[in-house]
Amino acid sequence: MTFAELGLSSKLLEAIETAGYTEPTPIQAGAIPPALAGKDVLGIAQTGTGKTASFTLPLIERLSRGRAKARMPRSLIIAPTRELAAQVAENFETYSKGQKLSMALLIGGVAFKPQEEILNKGADVLIATPGRLLDHFERGKLLMSGVQFLVVDEADRMLDMGFIPDLERIFKMVPPRRQVLFFSATMPKEIQSLVDRFLNDPERVEVSRPATTSVNIKQYLVKLGSSVAKDKRAALRAAMNRDGVKNGIIFANRKRDVDIVARSLQRHGFSAAPIHGDLDQSSRTQTLADFKSGELRFLVASDVAARGLDIPNVSHVFNYDVPHHADDYVHRIGRTGRAGNTGESVTISTSADSKSLAAVLKLIQQDIEILELDGQTAAPAAKAKSDEAASEDKPKSRRSSGGGRSKSRAAKSDKPQADSAPVEKDDTASETPPARQPAEKAEKPARPARKDKSRNRRSDSQDRPVVGFGDHVPDFMS
Ligand code: AMP
Repeated sequence: MTFAELGLSSKLLEAIETAGYTEPTPIQAGAIPPALAGKDVLGIAQTGTGKTASFTLPLIERLSRGRAKARMPRSLIIAPTRELAAQVAENFETYSKGQKLSMALLIGGVAFKPQEEILNKGADVLIATPGRLLDHFERGKLLMSGVQFLVVDEADRMLDMGFIPDLERIFKMVPPRRQVLFFSATMPKEIQSLVDRFLNDPERVEVSRPATTSVNIKQYLVKLGSSVAKDKRAALRAAMNRDGVKNGIIFANRKRDVDIVARSLQRHGFSAAPIHGDLDQSSRTQTLADFKSGELRFLVASDVAARGLDIPNVSHVFNYDVPHHADDYVHRIGRTGRAGNTGESVTISTSADSKSLAAVLKLIQQDIEILELDGQTAAPAAKAKSDEAASEDKPKSRRSSGGGRSKSRAAKSDKPQADSAPVEKDDTASETPPARQPAEKAEKPARPARKDKSRNRRSDSQDRPVVGFGDHVPDFMS
């Protein structure tokens, strides 16, 4: 299948050619035709599948047949994080070259005024995080009655971040006759319920299971006998000092650990910087730019901050700890081995991670080779077995039929650790329970519907106070 066969205009085909794409990815081939035909689309796809273009391209095509009006955007793209929204905006700019379409990026952590000025001029598309969008709406800076297209990107991450009430409000604010393009990597019941309520007979396009890890990624596991933070950091440094490590992203479950690990790495002479939701937007943007340009070698990140970031050429992903949610493991390591490149992931696992590790192995249905690092207390060189981990998690559920020597050794090495290894109190104090509640949920609480316009406590703008408009009533409202 070619892009031309999808029904895109010659201008878009030129932009696609300039971007260097030769053929549509499966999500693009599946989603673009119904989107162009005006149908609602439910796209089940994760980052890296080309999903951004699968909604941006048809949106541009449909918007090219109309004009923007002041404060009345014609389309709205909602993304969970500022970085993801900024990335969608970059895509939009790339593909809309040569077309007279205007765009406003409405994200928290930066001043309102420039965003308001763009809104006043009229924007064809708003790309926004939920909180900042509602802020502008509540301040009377935009009217939703002209919205004909609504795109929701990474809906399941919005669920994790407590944005579902905001999303429901947004769905209710836009006119009932609109086209919805809705994307999510997974379909938990809360997301299915949104789809059932707000989408109209959507075309469902599903491209790959979230459990799929790329064959281009060599995965390693470092099993530490100690859960003490300084031992984990030493193991991390040893892993980062291995041959072939050009650059990498280090993931930690807790924001506090992101900061601690970044500072520790800096002290040990690594070019490293943190990125998470409590840092102000300008430093997040700068850090990301430095990392993309190669000026910064290592990015230490939380799951939410890194979700969906398209950073090419990352040679390594390091998991400072095993994520609480197994699908986050797939997302994390998916930062490497992209676009035909090979990559490696190294996951540090201690007794405190044994349940999470079992869940990961069960999800990916794949063995992870154990890596021994110099001077570290590591398990024997064997493979962490997916079937074995599953049985550890649920002792009676499954016993593997092909039990080999290395497997049982690995199983034995897990259990005593789980029972007896010391756990550094400080480090586990804020640990999130292993329910569907991500590490950053606490920083992004669900907000009740707000009636008080003067409040400015929303989750995605909470990172830094933002100067707003106070009691100023815009001219067109008075
Ligand atoms: P996404 O899943 O939207 O984050 O896209 C992941 C990466 O795939 C981005 O770097 C895109 O530029 C790239 N990409 C998107 N569509 C295509 C395509 N048809 N062919 C090759 N690469 C693509």
